Amino acid sequence: MVAALALPALHASHAGTWLRQAGQTREVARGEALNAAADTPHLLVNAQLAATRLGYPELSGLDLLELFAFVRPAQFCVPTVKGIAHATGLPEPGAEADAPLLLQQAAAVLIEQCRADDWPQREGAWSSLQALIRLRWPWANILAPVIRRPERAERWLFARLPEWEETPERAQPRTVLIEEEEAAAHLARLTGEGAERREGQHQYTRDAVAMFAPRDRHRKPHMLLAQAGTGIGKTLGYLAPAALWAQRTRGTVWVSTFTKNLQRQLRQEAARAWPERRADGSAPVVVRKGRENYLCLLNLEDALQGGFSGRPAVLAQLVARWAAFTRDGDMVGGDLPGWLGTLFRRRGIAALTDQRGECIYAGCPHYRKCFIERSARAAAQADLVIGNHALVMINAARARDAQTRPTRIIFDEGHHVFDAADATFSAALTGQEAIELRRWVIGPERGSRGRRRGLAARLADIASYDEAGANAIAAAVDAAALLPTDGWLERVAQQQPGGPIERLLAEVRALAYARDASGGAEAGYGIETEAAQLPGTLIDAANDAAEALELVRRPLAQLSIRLEAVLTDAPDWLDTSGRARVEGARHALGWRIDLLAAWVALLTRMGGPVDPAFVDWLAVERNDRREFDVGLYRHWLDPMKPFAKVVLEPAHGVMLTSATLCDRTPTGPDWAEAVARSGAPHAGIEPRLTQTVSPFAYAENAEVLIVTDIARGDLAALAGAMARIVEETGGGVLGLFTAIRRLRAVHGRIADRLARQGLPLYAQHVDPIDTGTLTDIFRDDPAASLLGTDALRDGVDVPGESLRCVVLEQVPWPRPTILHRARRAASGVSGQVYDDRIIRARLAQAFGRLIRRADDRGHFIVLSAAFPSRLLSAFPDGTPVARVTLQEALARLSGGRAELAAAFGDNEARS
Ligand code: SF4
Repeated sequence: MVAALALPALHASHAGTWLRQAGQTREVARGEALNAAADTPHLLVNAQLAATRLGYPELSGLDLLELFAFVRPAQFCVPTVKGIAHATGLPEPGAEADAPLLLQQAAAVLIEQCRADDWPQREGAWSSLQALIRLRWPWANILAPVIRRPERAERWLFARLPEWEETPERAQPRTVLIEEEEAAAHLARLTGEGAERREGQHQYTRDAVAMFAPRDRHRKPHMLLAQAGTGIGKTLGYLAPAALWAQRTRGTVWVSTFTKNLQRQLRQEAARAWPERRADGSAPVVVRKGRENYLCLLNLEDALQGGFSGRPAVLAQLVARWAAFTRDGDMVGGDLPGWLGTLFRRRGIAALTDQRGECIYAGCPHYRKCFIERSARAAAQADLVIGNHALVMINAARARDAQTRPTRIIFDEGHHVFDAADATFSAALTGQEAIELRRWVIGPERGSRGRRRGLAARLADIASYDEAGANAIAAAVDAAALLPTDGWLERVAQQQPGGPIERLLAEVRALAYARDASGGAEAGYGIETEAAQLPGTLIDAANDAAEALELVRRPLAQLSIRLEAVLTDAPDWLDTSGRARVEGARHALGWRIDLLAAWVALLTRMGGPVDPAFVDWLAVERNDRREFDVGLYRHWLDPMKPFAKVVLEPAHGVMLTSATLCDRTPTGPDWAEAVARSGAPHAGIEPRLTQTVSPFAYAENAEVLIVTDIARGDLAALAGAMARIVEETGGGVLGLFTAIRRLRAVHGRIADRLARQGLPLYAQHVDPIDTGTLTDIFRDDPAASLLGTDALRDGVDVPGESLRCVVLEQVPWPRPTILHRARRAASGVSGQVYDDRIIRARLAQAFGRLIRRADDRGHFIVLSAAFPSRLLSAFPDGTPVARVTLQEALARLSGGRAELAAAFGDNEARS
């Protein structure tokens, strides 16, 4: 074993703080730890988290995670002491007091790797280190003697990255009919020779074949709604016919997911049906995300060359290390560790992506190496594209090229399609949105750093060639000066607006507060008011704002026409890359023009007759009592209307599938609601409906406990109950809250007590860690528990021992927002029936976290006596339900714990 690194080390958790100096580890008081860390940089893991634990935000030191990101870029590591131990091949520390020694050993392993001749990520390390020395990165001087200077000068990152190849357009898919039996036989091949045949999965595959039949009516795709109980193997169930169809027709199938988790899982499952590479080196399976997820090389170059300074500049160097080894340049949920950005506190990661659509396409020196362009080209040639609901809808609405629009789409996690459509087809004229548009048009103003460029700089060559285009650009830039600028939120709050949009926002804010009836009870959340009975001053301000927005929209529309003219009657100097850039600019202009038109339409209706197709309201967005946005919102009453037109009608085959697609009412599944929420009726389609029941033995493996003696609003009792449940189960608890305030209060009361028993408690909205990483930490440690809100309710896939109890702090009632009220009133059913559907869906999703595999076991606990029996149908048939006191619940948990130990012990013995 490599000798431990002889540097002081610090470990801080809710259970205490330990220092290791001169070969001795001691538990110390917080003050002593802080003094020691201020004197000498200490080895630690996740400085941000340690800082939160010690209550001292300025804590810094030699963070093992930063060293890991440098030595092993694009590799996975759970950002905890245990995670570092696993990643470096060291035994887990037995107790927290052993953590500092582990840090010294792990640091030594990583440093030793830099000496090794076969260090796979050596290329570029020396050059990067020289920059990090200049930036005074704490690890730089430790690594300097270890990383030898290469004999030949290293090429810099941008020269090393491969170029993508231009490929011919794919022909229209051939017309082929896939037989059910062929698909079932292909499924059998994919699951493997000796695999047990699962009847439900085979039936599901046969059903899925229907969406691949040739379309026989214009704008009427084949449509399938498939309810698939957890554990039937639906992923491979639909990939089997998809693979056959793609192979025979040379067409592309899109699978759209809602969570990144399922994207990851799909990538793994797809490896059974497709090879990693085709004979020509291209990838048959491609993950595709929105462009704001990918590293923009031009932004990175700018950051490396002085655009970033101080700590963000260190981040840029570590991102550059990763960029050389990444699979696809995906910074959000790809192979860039989710924790890297949070270590550097500022929004560094976002600044390295193309957030604002400022891409200059072929005008960019890195265009031929750009990750976004590479992924778009790869997707156009792929058999299977794994995307997400928002991207599929945005692509359908704004695709640059109709040829690349998906025609066969499987929406997995189909119960989220409604919400994704709701977000995609809505409009929001807010201060944040308007200032983004101003920056996009005008570019950097007064003292802003970086390469961000406005419209005039991006299209300088067109302006010098085409006078009308130049005039349109100048007019747009002039008009954009009417949009909000930095400091708008303060000015609006102080009723000192600058310009017509800020004036409107000031009116909106004042009215929202004037009409707020929550009496401060809901302080911390946003406040909203209907766009009805508006005062004359607000209507006047809306009219002025609409005129100002028109002044921006009109020249942008003229510019778009000029660009089209340039493309049609192209000058000699416009080469292929110039054309691509102008096309890119036209596309970017197109959706800003649409956005402005939507804003103007929203404003001109203020004070006028209500449009029954929409729900409009005004809101002040707040987070922790801090306002962060103000604006006007418009949502479709039924967002499946535009979804049907934009996504369904152009497609040839569509499937929506999920374990919770249709509501399980006390009298059986409610397909009518599922069909309505699929958009099919708006496209005049009658979808085929199928249902496959989960093979899991819920009656034996799960139990729902409704705890009847925790009074609503009694925070102390709630915290006490949560702590005792975690103690009884020995961790493995996922606690789901409906309010962030309660989550924080409960965490604050119990985290120390649990940590002292070796039961770490992590929490969304408390720990400075992104949700994906929190889930990784939870999955990695069976003693850990996790508290969270909505995103965890169906974004967590933790099979096995790590998740053995789900606790709901109360019944997940929907929040009575204006939009919710409007949809409930228009639903044609009673308010209670409407709300019950929503609650049952949430319960079913939360319950779905518990049993992920046939041998999973656990309890689902609701800490609320007010749990109507009519909601119990949300749980799978046969699941036992008991109404019990907390004491009785704990007794059942302790019985379950013994069984679990036996079950998991048995599993281990088998493996
Ligand atoms: S082509 Fe656009 S997104 Fe890609 S690196 Fe260049 S500016 Fe960034």
